[in-house]
Amino acid sequence: MCIFCDIIDHKIPSSVVYEDDEVLAILDISQVTFGHTLVMPKKHVDSALEADPETIARVFSAASVLGKKIKEKTGAVGVNLLANCGEAAGQTVPHMHVHVIPRYGVSDAIDIAFHPSEKKDLSEVLEKING
Ligand code: AMP
Ligand code: ZN
Repeated sequence: MCIFCDIIDHKIPSSVVYEDDEVLAILDISQVTFGHTLVMPKKHVDSALEADPETIARVFSAASVLGKKIKEKTGAVGVNLLANCGEAAGQTVPHMHVHVIPRYGVSDAIDIAFHPSEKKDLSEVLEKING
């Protein structure tokens, strides 16, 4: 059982922002910021890391278009497009989705910070990834 599949199948109600044959976008029930939206493929796949390239393209393309639209409509000054992949990355619903989170340039309920870490030897990192 997957809560997002149930939403896609209309077994659970949702607030639909956008829908086509392959993609559904709904308001996130938590509304971390005003207009917070989730964009997901209709076909179940656990996360963006398991999705096929066409699904990735459809979902991220819709997220980009919706991000622009929501930004214009709400007067937001920025948008986070965010895909959590795996529990350790904060994914709580194991059905691929992209968060579209409008930002208003004020203190809000989201905190994304890149804290400086110990300097790494980049050639070692490259070797690990590409070697
Ligand atoms: P993540 O933590 O990246 O897996 O995000 C899952 C998101 O799904 C959370 O932000 C939840 O608020 C949202 N969510 C869970 N259940 C529902 C629901 N029934 N309708 C809309 N959003 C939901
Ligand atoms: Zn699902």
